[in-house]
Amino acid sequence: MVETNWAGNLTYRAAELRKPESLGELADVITASPRVRALGSRHSFSPIADTEGTLVSLAQMPREIEIDTGAATARVSAGLRYGDLVPALDAAGFALANLASLPHISVAGAVQTGTHGSGDRIGSLATQVVGLDLMTADGEVRMLRRGEPDFDGAVVALGALGVVTHLTLQIEPTYEIAQTVYEGAEWDEVLPRFDGVTGAGDSVSLFTTWQDAGAIDQVWVKARPGRAHADAVRAAGGREADGPRHPVPGVAPEPCTVQGGMPGPWHSRLPHFRLEFTPSAGAELQSEYLIDRRDIAAAVEALRGLASKIAPLLYVCEVRTMAADDLWLSPAFGRETVGLHFTWRPDSAGVEALLPRIEEALPASARPHSGKVFTMDADSIRRRYPRWDEFAALRERMDPRGRFTNDYLARLGLG
Ligand SMILES: Cc1cc2nc3c(=O)[nH]c(=O)nc-3n(C[C@H](O)[C@H](O)[C@H](O)COP(=O)(O)OP(=O)(O)OC[C@H]3O[C@@H](n4cnc5c(N)ncnc54)[C@H](O)[C@@H]3O)c2cc1C
Repeated sequence: MVETNWAGNLTYRAAELRKPESLGELADVITASPRVRALGSRHSFSPIADTEGTLVSLAQMPREIEIDTGAATARVSAGLRYGDLVPALDAAGFALANLASLPHISVAGAVQTGTHGSGDRIGSLATQVVGLDLMTADGEVRMLRRGEPDFDGAVVALGALGVVTHLTLQIEPTYEIAQTVYEGAEWDEVLPRFDGVTGAGDSVSLFTTWQDAGAIDQVWVKARPGRAHADAVRAAGGREADGPRHPVPGVAPEPCTVQGGMPGPWHSRLPHFRLEFTPSAGAELQSEYLIDRRDIAAAVEALRGLASKIAPLLYVCEVRTMAADDLWLSPAFGRETVGLHFTWRPDSAGVEALLPRIEEALPASARPHSGKVFTMDADSIRRRYPRWDEFAALRERMDPRGRFTNDYLARLGLG
């Protein structure tokens, strides 16, 4: 089997890729193989999904979206992409609280890695989950609901507990978002008013190439009507862009969602990129470190110190914010969080040589995004997650024979 991830930096080592069409077939696949991993839409850059055994994709399972208007929830098939789900929600008059930068990713794959968008008061996509149906190593489906003992450990679980077959998501009445891009802000002006800048809308992203260590090239402000207040962005030097922009300098803006302050449906503004185009740069690698929000000044100082090393390898760096959550392996567990994301040129050797320097320089609160490239060792990661050992015990209890373990998890001491 020769299958690669989306970026092409990884060829899966799996002996086979199975695509069951029913829960019964899925159970047969799981119980027949000593090593199984669920595969989403393959957008992770790390080998998190890989296995030497069987990869199982849910892409051919029935596509279910059951909306409970009274409870304001939607029970959805785990293999659906957000891009397939959101028009159906919107047509029924509902929305999600947030989306990632792209709609191309599967719901289960995104949730399992703690994938996030931006927003001071909005949690990662996993915080929208109120229930999950998990097929465990014995082929039985276990339903976990928010408030139950294992739930907080099972939502962001790196695919280690089993194959999620359905997720129940919190939904809310549909809403509009307008997106405006500002250029020319300066770090020295942004840091003293960081709360004002990231609070300029419901979801704010700062982009920099680190070519000029003092500059923030673009600030993207996404806000519901009447909720944009960009005074702090302007006070930090930001001026409204005179046309649409792509976050990567020099790239045409067609793949990007509508800018210019024009309101539109939530799902057509919250992601940066449109479903029908290749998102981001295309040929690339990504890394991200999620820090305690209180460490933002120290983190920026650390990155400015490495700017001359980072810039030659980089397309663009994005800074986003997340509300704290209670999900054990969530990078935003227990603290207001800032994500420092790097879209790298596809130079694996160069990136892997630089990452240890970035990891050493960043504050000790930095937790690597599990779906992206990092070099941090298991002990350092474990120390940064207060509930790590409880997750390890949950994994041991739910998958005692290690059917869902792989080299990636073993490297982290999980199996
Ligand atoms: C262009 C681009 C932009 C991105 N933007 C963002 C962003 O804005 N924010 C962010 O946080 N991340 C971002 N990412 C990273 C991406 O969201 C994560 O890597 C995410 O996990 C990808 O989801 P996937 O469906 O491709 O999962 P995969 O990469 O296929 O799998 C990821 C993990 O999920 C597990 N998994 C998948 N399906 C299931 C299931 N049904 N049951 C149990 N486990 C399962 C897999 O076993 C694996 O461990 C981006 C990636 C790309 C390529």
